[in-house]
Amino acid sequence: MPLDSKSPTGPIETRWDRHRFNLKLVNPANKRKHTIIVVGTGLAGGSAAASLAELGYNVHCFCFQDSPRRAHSIAAQGGINAAKNYHNDGDSVYRLFYDTVKGGDFRARESNVYRLAQISLNIIDQCVAQGVPFAREYSGYLDNRSFGGAQVSRTFYARGQTGQQLLLGAYQALERQIGSGQVKMFPRSEMLDLIVIDGRARGIVTRDLMTGKVESHLADTVVLGTGGYGNVYYLSTNAKGCNATAIWRAHKRGALFANPCFTQIHPTCIPVSGEYQSKLTLMSESLRNDGRVWVPLNKGDKRTASQIPETERDYFLERKYPSFGNLVPRDVASRNAKQVCDEGRGVGESGLAVYLDFRDAIQRLGKPVIKERYGNLFDMYERITGEDPYNAPMRIYPAIHYTMGGLWVDYNLMSNIPGLYVIGEANFSDHGANRLGASALMQGLADGYFVLPNTINDYLASTKLDKVDVSHAAVREAEAGVAAITKRLLEAKGTRSVDSYHRELGKLMWEYCGMSRNAQGLQHALAQIPGLREQFWRDVKVLGTGEELNQSLEKAGRVADFFELAELMCLDALERNESCGGHFREEYQTPEGEAQRDDDNFSYSACWEFRGVGTPPELHKEPLTFDYVHPSQRSYK
Ligand SMILES: Cc1cc2nc3c(=O)[nH]c(=O)nc-3n(C[C@H](O)[C@H](O)[C@H](O)COP(=O)(O)OP(=O)(O)OC[C@H]3O[C@@H](n4cnc5c(N)ncnc54)[C@H](O)[C@@H]3O)c2cc1C
Repeated sequence: MPLDSKSPTGPIETRWDRHRFNLKLVNPANKRKHTIIVVGTGLAGGSAAASLAELGYNVHCFCFQDSPRRAHSIAAQGGINAAKNYHNDGDSVYRLFYDTVKGGDFRARESNVYRLAQISLNIIDQCVAQGVPFAREYSGYLDNRSFGGAQVSRTFYARGQTGQQLLLGAYQALERQIGSGQVKMFPRSEMLDLIVIDGRARGIVTRDLMTGKVESHLADTVVLGTGGYGNVYYLSTNAKGCNATAIWRAHKRGALFANPCFTQIHPTCIPVSGEYQSKLTLMSESLRNDGRVWVPLNKGDKRTASQIPETERDYFLERKYPSFGNLVPRDVASRNAKQVCDEGRGVGESGLAVYLDFRDAIQRLGKPVIKERYGNLFDMYERITGEDPYNAPMRIYPAIHYTMGGLWVDYNLMSNIPGLYVIGEANFSDHGANRLGASALMQGLADGYFVLPNTINDYLASTKLDKVDVSHAAVREAEAGVAAITKRLLEAKGTRSVDSYHRELGKLMWEYCGMSRNAQGLQHALAQIPGLREQFWRDVKVLGTGEELNQSLEKAGRVADFFELAELMCLDALERNESCGGHFREEYQTPEGEAQRDDDNFSYSACWEFRGVGTPPELHKEPLTFDYVHPSQRSYK
């Protein structure tokens, strides 16, 4: 299969401008003739739907929540990066580009990353114009803080609610278009299949989550902004509803899935507290600006934090990485936390936690300043754990947080299925093997506000699209497939709940395809998953009917897809015989325990083609070349 990334060449600073100039335009009168489906109303989908409607396209927009503004993006806490250099601390577009390529461990496309860094400047202007209440300094300038993997302060924030404020901005823009009739909104509608006609994406099949009605929607192009797949692990920081169904079913229709094993473990989450827990809570990375990470120097030290004197504390990140200290990237911080816990130096009852301590920051800055910066996060921590982080250090442990893998897209954000665009966390993204903090919001908004509204014109202007209607055989076939899945799930009438299967799958994935992986473990998982999947289909218990609000049925369909995706993730992890970013294969590490890449053999994006459930997928490789940031061993020392 030819994989043309359409990545421009020439000087990197002008690639996007030159590319944009060469893209065909659609004149305003013709835009009115086109309908675009946008699935997703998070920062990616919401910003795209609003922008495309503003341009004059007819947009049909879908989400499974009751309101577009409940998309998972609303949970984002810490901030959004932009190379504005307001602090005059040496930042630049080039430095953000450099940090992102290096942070992703040299597994992302340079052209995309440079464009992302350039557009970061526009995003902040756009959001300020919308009225997003970013934190400001006394002078009135927008304030910045630091996130992992950077030595400059480039993260714009609105307390610990940055995603919420940004999403409200996008939502208002979207609502304006809904009000004017340019966007038709379909809440509580779950996309369950992609309609491909004559090789082009032409629509989707949805299920109305309130009535169960299965319906097809046709358009000229389809955009998926449906988020990431971290919930394959059951326990994650993602909202419980996040799932992979839209991208997985598009994958089954031919869209390549790239780098599925690239998952991000976030170092600062509230540790797991019990067997029946169903959700993990993130403590934003912003906390590492002022919090110091440590464990007792000696194994098995069960004294409380306040009883452990300074000389018997190990600030292991500051010790090992003096340049970046507590602000090393997430993959590095997570691995080190695991390492000290594996050594028996973890804290708390389970021993699977490290301290994040604000004692020094409170002494230095005073409690009111810390409260102003992180108040809502501290409150959240106290509500969940019953401990007051102003008086005792937080206990944190790594947890699944973000997925860098996703559907493969070219420089125009189009998948290998013509007419199918994928944006935000749903695509395989610009983050390579590890995403730097505060870069997901940046990418989602870059895709939705600035990239897609330029690139989609080219497809519409240069493609002859025949009229299609719902009587088309491809539509009928897709609808029948959706109905068959629902029927099969309801008729299984087994003995175990959907959650119990999901939990078992999640445990397997965390154990063998989680923070560190090895060939033996991955082979074990690959041997287990098909059996568990078959058992799920035979034995799952879904109560209720298909003609009503039935969350058990919704979950069952999503978990069925997670089973198939989990297998692909393990296969991808097994195939990639190197360590890079969040993909840490125990067999490939430096003497200091850092990820050891193998650029000679693995400098590519792994793009998988679906061949059928239980049939090995086919691997296609998109080679990665680096003309500007030359691959080297990542060092944060
Ligand atoms: C707790 C937490 C904090 C975070 N904090 C930050 C941060 O500070 N900075 C940062 O840069 N990143 C952060 N992230 C990551 C960031 O929030 C996400 O990567 C980003 O918001 C994803 O946006 P999105 O638009 O791609 O997807 P989402 O916001 O997940 O939206 C997905 C949309 O798709 C819809 N959808 C999905 N499937 C279907 C379907 N089958 N049918 C119909 N609709 C569907 C949903 O209804 C929803 O509207 C954080 C993540 C978490 C979990």
